[in-house]
Amino acid sequence: MVVPTKGSRAHYRQVRLIALVVLLCLAAAFIFGTSIYWRRQAAEQVWQEAAETLAVQTEILSGVLDKYRMVPPLLSRQSDIIALFPDPGENPISPRRAREKAEEIAGLSGAKEVIFLLPDMTLLAAARNIYNGRAPGAEPLTEAASHGILGRQAVSLDSPDRAYAFASDVRRNGKFVGVVIAYIGFEGIEATWSLTTAPVFITDEDNVIILTNQQQWRHRSMTEVLTNALVQKKYVNLERNLPLLGWQLHVLADQAPARRTGITAGGVAALLSVLAGAAVLLYLSRRERLERQTRRDKAQALRLERIVRDRTRALSLTNDELSHEVEERKQAEEKLTQAQAELIQTAKLAVLGQMAATLSHEMNQPLAAMRTYADNATRFLDLSRVGDARAALGRISAMVDRMAELSGALLSFSRRPGTEKRPVSLGSVLEEALILVRPRAKKAGVSLKVAEGVGNLALLGGRVRLSQIVVNLVNNAVDALRDTSNPEVVIGAHREEDQIVLTISDNGPGIPNELHERIFEPFFTTKPHGEGVGVGLSIVYNIVQDFGGSIRLVDREGPGCTFEIRLQAAEQAAVAAAN
Ligand code: ADP
Repeated sequence: MVVPTKGSRAHYRQVRLIALVVLLCLAAAFIFGTSIYWRRQAAEQVWQEAAETLAVQTEILSGVLDKYRMVPPLLSRQSDIIALFPDPGENPISPRRAREKAEEIAGLSGAKEVIFLLPDMTLLAAARNIYNGRAPGAEPLTEAASHGILGRQAVSLDSPDRAYAFASDVRRNGKFVGVVIAYIGFEGIEATWSLTTAPVFITDEDNVIILTNQQQWRHRSMTEVLTNALVQKKYVNLERNLPLLGWQLHVLADQAPARRTGITAGGVAALLSVLAGAAVLLYLSRRERLERQTRRDKAQALRLERIVRDRTRALSLTNDELSHEVEERKQAEEKLTQAQAELIQTAKLAVLGQMAATLSHEMNQPLAAMRTYADNATRFLDLSRVGDARAALGRISAMVDRMAELSGALLSFSRRPGTEKRPVSLGSVLEEALILVRPRAKKAGVSLKVAEGVGNLALLGGRVRLSQIVVNLVNNAVDALRDTSNPEVVIGAHREEDQIVLTISDNGPGIPNELHERIFEPFFTTKPHGEGVGVGLSIVYNIVQDFGGSIRLVDREGPGCTFEIRLQAAEQAAVAAAN
């Protein structure tokens, strides 16, 4: 297994570290940004809602004021109400009726209090008498009404309840006889605020909270309330002037939802960041793994390449060695073939040596005869017997021919044979071989017979080596027939398909079965020391092998021995063409 380099590991550790730092920075920015953005969005929403509440409440307030604004002017112009006011300096006509009227009006209009004042600000009648015989804001209201304009005044007196008063003049025959004042309470408005979740309150010109949906803040200074740490942290103050009243309407927008939204958005962003970070880290680790794998594969491939290269080198070395060996073997084979050829030649010469005595005898005999014939011819010529002399010379001539034939055969036999194979006439091969072996056979009293028709056969081989086969086998037979009566050697041959089957048989003692396997071995002989060397049959075997043929000892009944040689057949016509 290929281990990634230290460098690559350190590199990846560094990349991971950088990625982590960058991711953390990005995540922080993302979380912070997202949280701020959504918080702002939510705050905007809250602010908008608060602003809407503010607008609505302002509208409600103005609506309420508008509703009551017309009440005193309308009342002050009604004759039955005018009639309730005495002329200045006179006594009231009926204070009881005036009070009943005020009660009626207050009941119908829903005003908090309805008061009838005389021009000197004396109370004529009060519908509910909630101000104990007094008319809060009577002075400015009467002043405005005396000038024929609608008097309006926010009032509080000592009571914590705040009210707003509208006042209108009452005139009879153009004379200012009194004032109708309607006081409007804000309890109803306060009641509607209780439905609003955001704190809503109104402050007067002294910044004191006069109306609110938060019970605990009522009649407290707004500054004090708003500087409270909790309130300051939780709310944003939206305010609007109510110019008519001289008051201010406040709506506090709760920031908690915005904060919660910011936190939620931040949480979601954090989750997304974690997921993205995990994805990036996963991607990095996968990339690292892939790169490691690629490196490993590359290293493996390189190693394989190196192995293949080494093996190839080793193989080519082995190949060279083998080629060298083959060359050496070839040379050795050549040397062996040469040695075998040498051996064949040597063995042949050895056979010739064996036969030398017989052959020289064969030569001496005609030479002696020729001498006798020559002497006779000389004598016949002296006696002028020309005819007899001619006959003697004729015999000499015939003998010279015989000797020439024998020496020709000897010369041919002793010649170093070629290695080629060509069509050869079996007749001419046997003829040459028999010239050489016949004298020995004759001397040993062995009859040598050649079967009929053998001379017409042709085979593939070398003439000299084929005659060596015949010479060796016949010589062996003659040797074996030494103690046999009517000894005889028969040479036969016939064609079987594309083979020539040559047999050389004798009627000698034969070869014991146990020796059948061994007789073709080199240097195997049963002959006494000095007579045989045991290479004859082995050479015959090799020559037959060289010609692509076979030799075997035929199993036969009774005494005697037959060698069968099979060689490739050739056509007679081819023999003529080859020579
Ligand atoms: P050598 O003739 O020198 O002994 P050979 O190789 O020619 O060597 O023969 C080997 C042996 O085979 C001979 O010694 C002989 O015993 C046996 N042999 C060969 N031919 C014959 C035959 N025709 N009859 C009996 N024995 C034979």
